[in-house]
Amino acid sequence: STEIQLKSRPAGIPTTDDFETVTISLNEISEGDILVKNLWMSVDPYMRGRMIDRESYIPPFQVGKALEGGAIGEVIESKNPAFPVGSHVSSMMGWRSHFVSNGEGLTLLPRTELPLQSFLGIMGMPGMTAWAGLFRVAELKPTDTVFVSAASGAVGSVACQIAKMHGCKVIGSVGSDEKASLLKELGVDAVINYKTTENLSQALAEVAPEGIDVYFENVGGEHLEAALNNMNQNGRIAVCGLISQYNATEPQPGPSNLSLIIIKRLKMQGFIVFDHWDHYGEFAKQMGSWIAEDKIKWEETVYKGLEQAPDAFIGLFEGKNKGKMLVKL
Ligand code: NDP
Repeated sequence: STEIQLKSRPAGIPTTDDFETVTISLNEISEGDILVKNLWMSVDPYMRGRMIDRESYIPPFQVGKALEGGAIGEVIESKNPAFPVGSHVSSMMGWRSHFVSNGEGLTLLPRTELPLQSFLGIMGMPGMTAWAGLFRVAELKPTDTVFVSAASGAVGSVACQIAKMHGCKVIGSVGSDEKASLLKELGVDAVINYKTTENLSQALAEVAPEGIDVYFENVGGEHLEAALNNMNQNGRIAVCGLISQYNATEPQPGPSNLSLIIIKRLKMQGFIVFDHWDHYGEFAKQMGSWIAEDKIKWEETVYKGLEQAPDAFIGLFEGKNKGKMLVKL
């Protein structure tokens, strides 16, 4: 079996030197165990946080140990009747080709028409994050004007489309013109390329003269400052992520206009998708029917081979993905 270990804790943007591909031998499976061959794995921005040695909502990765993350695999040997050979499981055992498990923490995937990897994207954690952030955190209303940052990514592109279906006016920000046209095709009302826009706050004011009611925050920094300037009274900010700060080597300044939270009576709430997981069934039913009715679309960017996983991960911070960034093993 092959696995990718954390070789060193990255300083700034990770490099491939921070990772090491290692061959290990797995134990024979015992009664109750299964052997899983991974088919797909996810790379996600939150993994950068786990590379820092600090206390958080999830323990840090350890140097010299395999990384972890969402993966979809096939059971190839089984001494556990709950997981027959040929069944597909989702796990947190990514970054490795194979693993032995007693089934704890694994989810048997339903047999559906959907591509397996959609359970790492639109039907999985990122899709659920968009849904939970909009409905359970931002309390989305059909009359809202919604601003989504990192809008063409795994979470952002789903958030944009859900908000559109709910009747909202939606504005997205992205890092390339190609991503902008993709979002326009998905029905997003206005898209700002933050890399070629001189004044984000002004650009937002131009496309949303009525103001923003909900900001789905994925980026932080200048994006948050621009959003605050354009929020309407009683607006809601769901803080999902702050990707512009994940590779910072020193503490980042807060927005200079924070007092607008008071003046505009804003509500700002951070959230972690796993706290909402008891609603996964509700989400999956809804998302499943949107997909079946062809009301929602998704993109994926696929790197091929486990050894490409570090590049795929690093690519997240360079905007190399459209939709969900995946590794096909
Ligand atoms: P994405 O698919 O959106 O990939 C990351 C994207 O972020 C890149 O494609 C890039 O797009 C953009 N980006 C990277 N660096 C910067 C930067 N410095 N400034 C602005 N944009 C940048 O990833 P996900 O959809 O998986 O995650 C999106 C956000 O949601 C992240 O902040 C993540 O941490 C958060 N998240 C939070 C969860 C929670 O439970 N709270 C769960 C899942 C995700 P572009 O080319 O447009 O710049």
